[in-house]
This record gives sequence, C-alpha cells and structure tokens, in this order.
Amino acid sequence: ASAGSFRGARALQLTLAVIKPDAVAHPLILEALHQQILENRFIIVQSKDLVWKRKDSEKFYAEHSGRFFYQRLVEFMSSGPMRAYILARKDAVSYWRELMGPTKVYRARHVAPGTLRAQYGLTDTRNTTHGSDSIESAMREIAFFFPEFQAHEWIEREEPFFRVGL
Ligand code: GDP
Ligand code: MG
Repeated sequence: ASAGSFRGARALQLTLAVIKPDAVAHPLILEALHQQILENRFIIVQSKDLVWKRKDSEKFYAEHSGRFFYQRLVEFMSSGPMRAYILARKDAVSYWRELMGPTKVYRARHVAPGTLRAQYGLTDTRNTTHGSDSIESAMREIAFFFPEFQAHEWIEREEPFFRVGL
C-alpha cells in the first residue's frame, strides 16, 4: 500500500472535548468524566481550566444565535469554570461524540442511557460536555481554546508513534 492509504488507515485524530460548568462544579462528576476519557484510551494532549467571558461564549456559539436556547446557552457557558481537553485517538471525533450521547439529556436518558450526558446531564442546556462534530470543527475549536497549539505539526510529529496501540 502507498504511504497515503496507510496514513488513512491509521487515522489518528484530534478532537476538542470540554467539561462544561455544570459538571466542573461537582468534583465527583468532574472526576468521573476525566476517568471516562482515560478508560476510553484517549491521549490527553493538553488540558486546561478556564472561564469564559460572555463574548467568548457568544463567539463560540455564533452558529446558534437566534435559536430559542441561545441566550441560556451563552449565559451558562460563561457562568463558571470549564475544563478543555485536546484529545487524540483513532476516530477521536466520532468516538467522543458517541461517548457523550445525544445533545438533549432527556433524549439521551431514553435512547442512550450509558452515555455521559444521560448519566450526568442536568438539562438540555446544562448537558455536561462538548465535543467537536467534525474534523474541521475540531481544528477550529482547538484553535479557539488553545490558540498556541499547532495541530498539524503535532500530528506530523506524533502520529508514527501511535501506529501500535490505538
Ligand atoms: P452539541 O453539538 O451536541 O453540543 O449540540 P448543538 O451544537 O446542537 O448545541 C450546542 C449546545 O446548545 C448544546 O450542547 C446544548 O448545551 C445547547 N442546546 C442545543 N439544543 C438545545 C435545545 O434544544 N434546548 C436547550 N435548552 N439547549 C440546547
Ligand atoms: Mg455542536
């Protein structure tokens, strides 16, 4: 096989995962979510705790401006500390989305009871976690949270070491 097709088969990906303020506020829930990251064999490339100003929240969720839940969402996401992670794994983007479960907590409890949002979510707004929804959004969102991180350089440098084990 050519290097190109082999590269695709390895498929090490980065994603952005965020533990939202509702979950960070409860140390045991924060710890449980962190454990889930480790148990599911994500590599924690970087992580940090941060608090958003309202304008950060508005900017990050600009795609939802005008939706009925937008004001609530913006307020909530700037209401207290969050923890953001750059995670690496095979199929990281879809794997983390699967683990989180559906956006709406009541739906999650119904159709995917084992997921993070089903187990720990409080409401449709306060649903414990964020995850990028595509490779493109992952790159954009990682840059939003970790402006100094050079994603492409990281992948180029690290990917060969992950061929075995992921
Ligand atoms: P996600 O990618 O699964 O987080 O979902 P979206 O990108 O569609 O929405 C972003 C965030 O807005 C969600 O994680 C929720 O916090 C909030 N949200 C989305 N849809 C609803 C809704 O119907 N009601 C409420 N209250 N919040 C919502
Ligand atoms: Mg989304």
